Amino acid sequence: MGTISVIVIGAGLGGLAAAIRLAARGVCVEVLEKNATPGGKVNIHRAVGYSFDTGASLLTMRHVVEDLFADANRRVEDYLHIEPLDPICRYLWPDGATLDASTDLSRTENEIRRIAPEDVGGFRRFLADARRKYEVAERTFLAHSLNDLPKLLRPRYARDLAVISSWRTLSAHVGRYFRSPHLRQLFNRFATYNGSSPYRTPATFALIPYVEFGLGAWYVRGGMYELPRALARIATELGVTVTTNAEVEKILIEGARVRGVVLKNGEERRCDAVVANSDAVETYRRLIAPAARQRGFTDRRLAHIEPSCSGFVILAGTRRRYQSLAHHNIFFSTDYAAEFRAPFDELRPAADPTIYICATSRTDASQAPAGHENLFILVNAPATSARTDWNTQAPAYRDLIVRKLEDYGIEDLGGEIDYEHVITPEDFRINYHAHRGSIYGVSSNSRMSAFLRPPNKARDIEGLYFAGGATHPGGGIPLVLLSGKMAAELLIRDEGEGMRDEG
Ligand SMILES: Cc1cc2nc3c(=O)[nH]c(=O)nc-3n(C[C@H](O)[C@H](O)[C@H](O)COP(=O)(O)OP(=O)(O)OC[C@H]3O[C@@H](n4cnc5c(N)ncnc54)[C@H](O)[C@@H]3O)c2cc1C
Repeated sequence: MGTISVIVIGAGLGGLAAAIRLAARGVCVEVLEKNATPGGKVNIHRAVGYSFDTGASLLTMRHVVEDLFADANRRVEDYLHIEPLDPICRYLWPDGATLDASTDLSRTENEIRRIAPEDVGGFRRFLADARRKYEVAERTFLAHSLNDLPKLLRPRYARDLAVISSWRTLSAHVGRYFRSPHLRQLFNRFATYNGSSPYRTPATFALIPYVEFGLGAWYVRGGMYELPRALARIATELGVTVTTNAEVEKILIEGARVRGVVLKNGEERRCDAVVANSDAVETYRRLIAPAARQRGFTDRRLAHIEPSCSGFVILAGTRRRYQSLAHHNIFFSTDYAAEFRAPFDELRPAADPTIYICATSRTDASQAPAGHENLFILVNAPATSARTDWNTQAPAYRDLIVRKLEDYGIEDLGGEIDYEHVITPEDFRINYHAHRGSIYGVSSNSRMSAFLRPPNKARDIEGLYFAGGATHPGGGIPLVLLSGKMAAELLIRDEGEGMRDEG
């Protein structure tokens, strides 16, 4: 058997990670990306001397990036300058309380002691539990695709699964460790790292704070876009063809087996297998004929998959500096439960949203003209639906957010902005074909979510694999990189004969 050929649909991080791993094993890979640049939701917006990341801004689980580079026989430091952030994040509350979180836990404990002395012990116990949960997840769900579920259900994992399973919600779990409403809000917020609600997502996700406090938070110098740029470069060095402005319109399936793809311009490309990095829900809905998925993801079944939340973003260049800002900042709302009911239950933007600001200009002078800041302002937003018309609502929502930041002490923000660009959930839907504009793929708002999303290897169609936020293990940079690994490993296992090791 000769070298097999694989088409990867989409040059998001999951697609690039799969392409690199396949190419490193001698597979002939072409990546087809509908947009003009690779990176998917990790993208860049440049204007009048400002540089803004338009998606992810915080890198966690750095070792996952290192692992990918090592599999490609490369060293991270030859491509990227990744540096730790301290403080990780500055948290602010409407009553004037603030807290700087640090990976130096004694400093974080001192900060907690300052605003909630009664919770220092709770923090230690919470983090120890988070660590246990993370270590279990690392050898189970983060190491195996759910196509390997029978393996995960073996007795030796049973105890592990008991450690991370919980009937409680994250919010109920957090409530057992912290008395201070401030700290409850702070630790509930980690549900948004996979686009979910702390009032619905299971306590399993209490592992996320360990990822940040225990393993560290990182900045990629030059901006997060350097990461997909480096991955696209490595892919090309390994012989992958990355074709941009190439939208796939259809996956060709004959006899329940993938045979190739058809591009929007009508061109047909044959291949042995496809890795869809395009949103898995949208891949089934848009690219696979209903007749080919009668036994699997029918439109009816897809309609039951709840997307993660979306985001409303203001990229704001300011003609002055804001010394009170750290690199990452969170300005909390007054009523957190109401804030999550809005996007998830009522499908509307929250009236009083928690606001996140990433100002990479605080630590990286290349990001804004001298004396200016590049503010990436993000609030959670509902997935797109008929209930919100962003074309008409965006300007007023933008004004509400800017006013709220001014109330928080970001002095005359409205008057100081000299460059601005707004990104709405509708833009995420259109630009990346994200399921209802979701920014993390599928929500984890129920205990069953992990099992409802399409798995890394399609069960109904041979030769079809998935990598990206809407498949296992979920959204966020490290997890989509892992999904690329899982898809590549499953593909190599299935189609592997005749492959050579590039070394
Ligand atoms: C505003 C925002 C903030 C975020 N913050 C963070 C953060 O701080 N930290 C973190 O870890 N994560 C964060 N995330 C999440 C993270 O960015 C995503 O989970 C991750 O980048 C998604 O990668 P993916 O592999 O799923 O691919 P995507 O980024 O979804 O890319 C899929 C690619 O497929 C292409 N495509 C789709 N359909 C087709 C087709 N038919 N033909 C050809 N190409 C197609 C799309 O154009 C796109 O380029 C954030 C995301 C957003 C949007």
